[in-house]
Amino acid sequence: MAGKRVVVVFGATGAQGGSVAAALLEDGTYAVRAVTRDTSKPAAVKLKKAGAEVVSADLDDEKSLEAALTGAYGAFVVTNAFEGSKKDKEVIQGKLVANLCKRLKLELVVYSGLENVKEITEGKLEVPHFDSKGEVEKYFRHIDCPMTSVRLAFYYENLLHGFKPQRNKDGRTLLLGLPMGDVPLDGISVADLGPAVVTILKSPACYKGKNIGLSAGKLTVEEYAEIMSVITKQMIKDAKILPEDYEQQGGAHNMANMFRFYMMRPDRDVVLTQKLNPKVRNFQQWMEENKKAFRSDSHGHPQ
Ligand code: NAP
Repeated sequence: MAGKRVVVVFGATGAQGGSVAAALLEDGTYAVRAVTRDTSKPAAVKLKKAGAEVVSADLDDEKSLEAALTGAYGAFVVTNAFEGSKKDKEVIQGKLVANLCKRLKLELVVYSGLENVKEITEGKLEVPHFDSKGEVEKYFRHIDCPMTSVRLAFYYENLLHGFKPQRNKDGRTLLLGLPMGDVPLDGISVADLGPAVVTILKSPACYKGKNIGLSAGKLTVEEYAEIMSVITKQMIKDAKILPEDYEQQGGAHNMANMFRFYMMRPDRDVVLTQKLNPKVRNFQQWMEENKKAFRSDSHGHPQ
């Protein structure tokens, strides 16, 4: 590791940062400094064994962040919208990191950003976990900190958890309840983020200052359901719902607005994603590798 330039990876014990840390370790160009609030948790111990320097820092604590970022060439920064309830938390955390990266003269930050939907739609739609990231993107540009934003599409992994197909009343079919109507939805496996970030970090001149929408493919819900059916050998159908139906069925307003924004087809660039990560998996390939997770249990519920 001696002599290698350091890349600091936030969220290294989670999905996005974990993918980035793994790809950086595999690539070997940079030394990896993995950030966690708890260096004793299994994911942190695993990173250390794999060759990362694991450091304790908290996005809410400037002193710990400064120590983590000092001497680094670059950083991957992700904030978690779904932890804690403090308003504007992601904005405060993002701006704090941006200021430090600027002051400590990092050469490139890859920030996991998203669009400021409220601004784009002139207040018609608010998606707090997008808007906050959009505000931070703007702030990086405003203070002139070298940054590339990667805007991830809907994770395929969401289909294993919050959006897994649900058993229909007829007991025979499973319904995929993504409220997109007939509009294609961009998707990607979060595990395929890492190699794209490595490419960006290795080519700052090409990607500095850009906002890059990452996607492995654009499919309608009907197409997602069809591929899932063929691969799992279960009858999985498009529930054919819109954000309004999703809300009526108890779905959160912010998530419904996120789908309303996805229905506006934000820029997600499949060709560029394939260039950044030539091994990025399309939905079919990802499903083949994950089909076991969709097997029904004895009650017919997907596990
Ligand atoms: P994750 O797997 O839940 O991991 C969250 C990570 O954040 C953990 O490694 C955690 O580290 C770290 N973390 C949280 N609070 C921290 C703090 N105060 N200081 C330092 N580290 C902190 O989450 P993820 O999926 O990688 O990323 C979540 C983000 O992805 C969300 O903001 C969401 O908006 C965005 N996103 C999601 C999708 C999607 O389709 N799901 C698409 C695009 C973007 P420790 O606990 O180890 O400290």
